[in-house]
Amino acid sequence: MPWWSWLILALGASLAAGLAIAAWIRDNKPGKDHGRLPGLMMWPPGSVPFLVMLDTDISPNGLNEALAWAVNFWRLGAHTSLFAAPGEVPEGGKTVPIMSSDKWPDWPTTECCSKRFGYTNLIQRQGELWSAAVYIDVAMAHTMNERDLRRGLAHELGHVLGLAHDEIEESIMFRSVPVDADPIVTESDKTMLQAMYA
Ligand SMILES: [Zn+2]
Repeated sequence: MPWWSWLILALGASLAAGLAIAAWIRDNKPGKDHGRLPGLMMWPPGSVPFLVMLDTDISPNGLNEALAWAVNFWRLGAHTSLFAAPGEVPEGGKTVPIMSSDKWPDWPTTECCSKRFGYTNLIQRQGELWSAAVYIDVAMAHTMNERDLRRGLAHELGHVLGLAHDEIEESIMFRSVPVDADPIVTESDKTMLQAMYA
């Protein structure tokens, strides 16, 4: 394998460890009065992730619209204004690039699946999210319908917020299988987000 594929695997492993910590904290039901939660990955106060897209020439039609939908999903679903869409550059914002490729060679292997639509890489420093990047398999995205594309992007944005997977099939953070109904933000994820960002 080329050297950078080892880097991707290493980053995937650190993401998995971070998400395990986030899941542990969620299971221990943090309350608002806990204030800043130790070990939880969250964006620093006042910072607003600003989403950008690269490689738009090979992006499937509707990806920008799907992204706008995904941003709005979290605004309405969890009352979080932690995202700014392209064109809404906030002061002190953190850039979250969305990178797409039609020749993505090696996806990080996890317990779940080795081939997937999207992957979010989070880097933390001292318990805070420091940077994030969302990777989209554009070849797969081209084969998806509009609803699954929107859902897939919203799912990855959930990871950008610091959320881990859950086992509730209609949840936006369910790990892989799409369901026919519109996805929801679970009550525990809402509680989590409010504890983190309210
Ligand atoms: Zn995921």
